[in-house]
Amino acid sequence: MADLHSADWLVPVVGDPIPNGALLEADGVITAVGRRADLRKLDHDHEQHWDGVIIPGLVNAHTHLQYSHMAAVGSRRYADFPEWVTHFQAAFAEPGHDWYAAALEGARQAIATGTTAIADVVTNPEALPVLRNIGVKGIAYWEFLSWANARSPESARTHAEKMIKEHQDLPIGLSPHAPHTLDEDVLVELTDIGHEFGLRRHVHVAESLSEVEFIGSGSGPHDQALRQWGIDDFALQRQQGSGLRPVDYLDRLVRLGPDCHIAHGIYTDADDRAVLRRRRTVVALCPRSNATISLDEAPVADYLREGNLVAVGTDSLASTPSLDLLADLAELAAIATRQGYRESDLDNRLLEAATLGGSKAMGLDQTANPVGALASGWSADFAVVAVNEPRQVVYEGAGQVTATVIDGRVRHRATSR
Ligand SMILES: [Zn+2]
Repeated sequence: MADLHSADWLVPVVGDPIPNGALLEADGVITAVGRRADLRKLDHDHEQHWDGVIIPGLVNAHTHLQYSHMAAVGSRRYADFPEWVTHFQAAFAEPGHDWYAAALEGARQAIATGTTAIADVVTNPEALPVLRNIGVKGIAYWEFLSWANARSPESARTHAEKMIKEHQDLPIGLSPHAPHTLDEDVLVELTDIGHEFGLRRHVHVAESLSEVEFIGSGSGPHDQALRQWGIDDFALQRQQGSGLRPVDYLDRLVRLGPDCHIAHGIYTDADDRAVLRRRRTVVALCPRSNATISLDEAPVADYLREGNLVAVGTDSLASTPSLDLLADLAELAAIATRQGYRESDLDNRLLEAATLGGSKAMGLDQTANPVGALASGWSADFAVVAVNEPRQVVYEGAGQVTATVIDGRVRHRATSR
């Protein structure tokens, strides 16, 4: 069975937008991309014409699907990071969470807004199989949060090896939460395990000023919070900080690389961004989540101008109003413009970040049938956005996805508009 999918426009991301474009799909894989008039001459069984613009399936490069029932926390604004943490922890501690159901619901919302692959950070094992079970691509990153080998019944290594063995059938990775919430020995251990087992890593980095202060000087609100929990022996506390900024600190400790991507990257200077480029480490920007928590805006214009590898994440419904990645693209466009980015390629660059950028963050561009662009040999993963022309996808695409297709199968179709 070969199906032709055509639309007013098709944006391959790896080439110029095609008016009256189409793609030919067989067995879940794209066999040709071009003008509808040309592709119609090729053998096919059926044509589906879509109103709007066909784009590659969106890749959400940072979220926590299991918090999708905590939307009450993410639907308001906070004065600062500690205030958000207090509300998040109170909601997390409430009894009766069904993490599997919540993650499944989040995945459904993601599919309905054009997402076909997800970097999902998981803290409760029930949520680990969700990507596989619902048929979305990506990686479930098992999170290590506030882990101290000296205080835990088992070492991070023992625990990680057990989790890896128990979930060999799932696409998993490792998520050492952040460079300030894990002691140095754990960060090093998890990096070693990642290399040994060939697992990708994903870390929250440079997200809050309390993180920056703690890594630099070993002091501040994060140090005080650790001491309240009886922790006063983190290497950074003993050494009064590293004197470094988060990205540089983490790179010197565990060496970043293309097998690891970071979330947020708000507090980076030109040297940090150069480190990320040198290591080919992708940064997943999460602008609406940052706004919810009243964090500063990431240096979006600098990342684009300097040529960093950039992806886009929504973060979880506990810190953002929706899992619609196109809403984050509109926000990024506004931020970059405010920051003085004037190049005409802004919308192309941002759409690339939300598709191919996220794919690179998880190595999905290196698989047998890669994702993140529309080209022959790539997976037939795409979304249809009901706008008139490609540039509107970034600025007006939020809430406008009318169809989502994964491996050639229609997984979402808007019933009425
Ligand atoms: Zn996060």
